[in-house]
Amino acid sequence: MSRWRFETRAIHDGQPPDPTTGAVMTPIYQTSTYAQSEPNVHKGYDYSRTANPTRTALESCLASLEEGTYGLAFASGMAAITTIAYLLNPGDRVLAPDDVYGGTYRLLVQILQRYGIASSFVDMTDLARVEAAMAARPRLVLLESPTNPYLKILDIARIAELAHVHDALVVVDNTFASPYFQQPLVLGADVVVHSTTKYLGGHSDVVGGAVITNSKEIYETLKFHQNAAGAIPGPFDCWVVLRGVKTLSVRMDRHAANALAVAQFLRDHPAISRVWYPGLPDHPGHDVARRQMKGFGGMVSCLLKGGGRAARTVAAATRVFILAESLGGVESLLDHPASMTHSSLEGSPLQVDEGLLRLSVGIEHAQDLIDDLKQALDRAR
Ligand SMILES: *Cc1c(COP(=O)(O)O)cnc(C)c1O
Repeated sequence: MSRWRFETRAIHDGQPPDPTTGAVMTPIYQTSTYAQSEPNVHKGYDYSRTANPTRTALESCLASLEEGTYGLAFASGMAAITTIAYLLNPGDRVLAPDDVYGGTYRLLVQILQRYGIASSFVDMTDLARVEAAMAARPRLVLLESPTNPYLKILDIARIAELAHVHDALVVVDNTFASPYFQQPLVLGADVVVHSTTKYLGGHSDVVGGAVITNSKEIYETLKFHQNAAGAIPGPFDCWVVLRGVKTLSVRMDRHAANALAVAQFLRDHPAISRVWYPGLPDHPGHDVARRQMKGFGGMVSCLLKGGGRAARTVAAATRVFILAESLGGVESLLDHPASMTHSSLEGSPLQVDEGLLRLSVGIEHAQDLIDDLKQALDRAR
């Protein structure tokens, strides 16, 4: 294990120059199979569903960035979360936040429930509710912080403690913070999961997922299911994520600086009634965020005084901010959760305000972002 700092590990861990050619960049091993010298005698690779060197490089690098021992890469964030669900048996229960990522909610309620795995959803900012929910003996506690779209901050260390008292496995979806700002394994989580589609890839050009853990037993079970169920990413997609990860630290610093500037601008704008950004001192989770994060991330949400009509007007009027789902790319994106990312959550405990806009603040010049929002907001007054 190298003891380089995060920024150095993002560029070098798992990615030494290629031993056969000296290529500085990790080659894209675009192969499904590998030559064997005798039956079952090979160089550690026999078939690319089981393992591929480009994927191995990504898995090692991501493990290092999360302060974990073992990494596994998947075809999407949902494929990663689905593979974690294979750790469960009929009769087991999952505890998740009431504003868990919509795709995860759909997996829990529309798929896992049919296999005899129940889920409960609580507001995990209230630790008393988390403790009360432990009475139902969940096998797995799955949480995110910051959450989507209200950017609630959950106290990962305290929730992990409560869960471990009851022998539950703690899984943290670290997609919104990225390992640069938050390392859940260090805070006591057993497993970290990512949609590498977002900040890790960082350029809105790939869909992928990853799981990281320090537990050999959990890793071996997940590795077995990664191969057995087969939701693996191709070598090119692994390479694209690896390339993105190299610049994670500089991107995240800029995302956070721009997000703070945008949040401060929105807070003072007369068309806005409320802003959610964990870096603002009046955010309810600000103190916990300061304790468990090194930076407050690039996501900002705001509520329009003019409600749904005003939000739709602004959403259609920005030029730098592109109206699109997803987040975490270098370009700024704008989302109207009520009609876009959160429109399909029927029966979900989460109610999203029609006047809410969610911003994935990119790394453009902050003033261009503010000018763009200003001209769009002026139309909504
Ligand atoms: C996008 C996202 C996912 C799902 O990842 P995909 O790569 O789209 O499958 C899971 N969790 C969070 C928090 C996300 O933002």
